[in-house]
Amino acid sequence: MPAGGEGALTVTVGMKVSPEPESEQALLDLMRRYRDALNYSVRVIMANRALSLTKAHRLLYNDLKKRFGLPSVTANVCYREAIAIAKSWLRNPRRGNVPTLKSLSMWLRPKDGYRVKGDYVELIGGYRLRIVGWDRRYDDFPNREARLVFREGEFTLYIFKQVPRPAKYAPKGVLAVDINERQVVVGNSHVEQRVETPIERALHYRRLAERLQGKYSSARYSAWLRRSGVRRRVRRFYRKAKNIIEDWARKASHTIISLAKQSQLAVAREDLTGLIESLKELPKDHRAALIALGYRRLGYWIDWQAEKNGVPLLVVDPAGTSSTCPRCGAELVEVGYRRLRCPRCGLEANRDTIAVLNIEKRALSKMGGTLTSPTAPQVTDVSPNRWGEPP
Ligand SMILES: [Zn+2]
Repeated sequence: MPAGGEGALTVTVGMKVSPEPESEQALLDLMRRYRDALNYSVRVIMANRALSLTKAHRLLYNDLKKRFGLPSVTANVCYREAIAIAKSWLRNPRRGNVPTLKSLSMWLRPKDGYRVKGDYVELIGGYRLRIVGWDRRYDDFPNREARLVFREGEFTLYIFKQVPRPAKYAPKGVLAVDINERQVVVGNSHVEQRVETPIERALHYRRLAERLQGKYSSARYSAWLRRSGVRRRVRRFYRKAKNIIEDWARKASHTIISLAKQSQLAVAREDLTGLIESLKELPKDHRAALIALGYRRLGYWIDWQAEKNGVPLLVVDPAGTSSTCPRCGAELVEVGYRRLRCPRCGLEANRDTIAVLNIEKRALSKMGGTLTSPTAPQVTDVSPNRWGEPP
């Protein structure tokens, strides 16, 4: 896997590509052979603990060329990827069986593996793919490794590029992000904004998938029906639920980071590791699993967008952010639905507002500043996405 170097950021540019109709089957065939060769290589590497390039080359290179019919360059890339997979599997303390890859996805090296020429991509083996559309913002940066993926009837080429890491500005304040399962609340002592989460919408698809799975798992239906069509539909529902979460996380993080940048604020979020772990402990709870996924993906995208846009980011301890008074530190008491009051200083606000103020306070103290007298903002549960969707 390519990693960002010091002062550089690795970005991925996805481009939809389309092979010439007469060569599509041959290309798919190459990708299938690559996948099979990769699965084979991972097993050979594990069995022989051949984690070095020299060892892997000796064990696999000829086989990959002869048995799987891979071009030399592709055979090289293949056992390299297999080593990376084997290493990351060995690093994982909770590893199960040796992974078997099912999707069609092929690594390509720049120059000898693929080349972008005008509106076409040329691949090893003489394949020409027309570029249907791509993000041109990074055109000026050299192409590095790429991955050709075939999914749901479409080819996408993901090209890795290294771009300079933007300098971070000196923040004028903090924009705190509090996440609960219904909403993301963004704000500080002066402003507050709420964005709905898509958990319910995603759950709808998971429920559909479950219903379908339950219905057709009965013996009333033929084995064929149970195996093929239904399984594909169930998988599609699951993927849909995941995509909903991913889309939302990307858009919401974009909104948050743009807002912070506009006002030159640092973004502060809670460290959600503990929360995600505890959600994962709940056995077979799909709601919890989706919430955990949402938290994880939002955290990922906020961090990434902050890096990409030069927005300073602070991750704060989440302990007690929605139960202690942001003004005086006393334990708050509940006085209504999600409403809390401080018995010592009288501050009263919505639970999420309290969390935002505490996150802001913690971030400011991390930055070396102090918050002398935070006041609760006017709580207005305004319509979601008032800031609008990112372009
Ligand atoms: Zn207080």
